[in-house]
Amino acid sequence: MPNTDRVKAVVVGGGIVGASMLYWLTRLGWKDVVLLERRNLTSGSTWHAAGNVTFFGHYTAITDLYVNSIKTYQAASSESGQEIDFHQTGSLRLANTEQELAAYKELEPVYERIDADYHIVGADEIAKLHPLLDTRGLFGAAHTPGDGHVDPTSATHALARAARLRGAEVKTHSPAHKIRPLGVRWQVETDERTYLADHVVIATSFWAREMLMPLGLHIPVYPVQHHEVRTDVVPELEALNFEVPAVRDPFAPSNTRQEGMGFLCGVYESDPQFWATDGIPADFGEELLVPDIGRLEEHLMRVTKRIPAFGEAGIKTVNNGPMAYTPDGLPMLGPVNSLPGLWLATGFNIGIGTGGGSAEYLAKWMNTGSPTHDLSIVYPSRYANDIPRQRALASIRSTYARGYAVPSIASQP
Ligand SMILES: Cc1cc2nc3c(=O)[nH]c(=O)nc-3n(C[C@H](O)[C@H](O)[C@H](O)COP(=O)(O)OP(=O)(O)OC[C@H]3O[C@@H](n4cnc5c(N)ncnc54)[C@H](O)[C@@H]3O)c2cc1C
Repeated sequence: MPNTDRVKAVVVGGGIVGASMLYWLTRLGWKDVVLLERRNLTSGSTWHAAGNVTFFGHYTAITDLYVNSIKTYQAASSESGQEIDFHQTGSLRLANTEQELAAYKELEPVYERIDADYHIVGADEIAKLHPLLDTRGLFGAAHTPGDGHVDPTSATHALARAARLRGAEVKTHSPAHKIRPLGVRWQVETDERTYLADHVVIATSFWAREMLMPLGLHIPVYPVQHHEVRTDVVPELEALNFEVPAVRDPFAPSNTRQEGMGFLCGVYESDPQFWATDGIPADFGEELLVPDIGRLEEHLMRVTKRIPAFGEAGIKTVNNGPMAYTPDGLPMLGPVNSLPGLWLATGFNIGIGTGGGSAEYLAKWMNTGSPTHDLSIVYPSRYANDIPRQRALASIRSTYARGYAVPSIASQP
């Protein structure tokens, strides 16, 4: 076969998840691993993500994926010398109801077990931590002081650079055109070369659905539009001598953190819109989608009620970007049981928050042939191969619209 490279693993996709996979495989001592990216590193959703990395998650089985993600980016940063701009602001998950507070309290033992700081705080403490937040009507909050936000592009480059230092190859402008099993191995074709690999990892976010169809796989990963709003400078933030914690409010539902001397707010719309469900345009690059601030109005008013200074500031930019979503909002992480050697690390909507830890989990599984512990809630096998498209889209809509609601209870105060 001309121009064929025999490698141990090919990782397809150069966002934060693919770069984390490459990093972890090399950290476990794998040689001959290559990452293929169709354009540039971070070209997909990663470049425009807000970079929030929180420790808080309702699904206790995967809490350590959050915590290990920050650790992964920090390790890659110190190995590569590439700064990741980690702001350890901590986060507040607001409880607008007694039930929400009770659900947050139930999570305490999980954080104790993994030795991560997690505290339930009352109104007085919230006001100290975030003096611009109106605490009236709040029942409390979960405070995770160890998290914050990173620069997703820098983190991706730190991971790729650290992997390169351990011998991995990163090929940008190298789309994988064809992926097929060949005996016990996998053949991956690019314009320049063909790779013959023992393992292939699909880390191509919302491109993965189409990419896997020729293999007879139909995965329910679709792109949803997601907005974020940046404000002008907020004098009240300038007057503080510290950066306020990120706020996640199930009532809005939204996340609002400090960005420079303004706010950056990501909104979970009640009537979410999809993008390109019939197929990602072949020439889609680093473009953003057309924003529609009208769709955010009700949510932004709720954010303003909670953080009045947010509403007083002018709006600097409104971004709308595509983001991968699965029906239950969790990624597809694990092997494809019917096709040995093919692994999925796709469908992430909190890919910065969970990408590094997810890659650690999957790479360890690939390395030994067995998972370190059961995480079946994220395995690709939880979905049948033939979920009707309309059913998948309907579930994604309701999961997305629930935003930060506790999975088992309603979020309205
Ligand atoms: C506005 C907005 C704000 C967000 N904020 C946050 C946040 O604060 N925190 C958080 O955790 N998440 C956030 N997200 C979600 C986050 O951006 C994604 O979860 C994350 O970037 C997914 O990473 P990924 O590596 O899976 O995918 P991507 O970054 O999309 O990477 C996939 C890569 O695969 C490549 N690719 C596709 N097909 C091929 C092929 N055939 N060959 C080679 N390469 C291919 C693409 O070019 C792309 O670079 C946000 C999303 C949006 C839209």
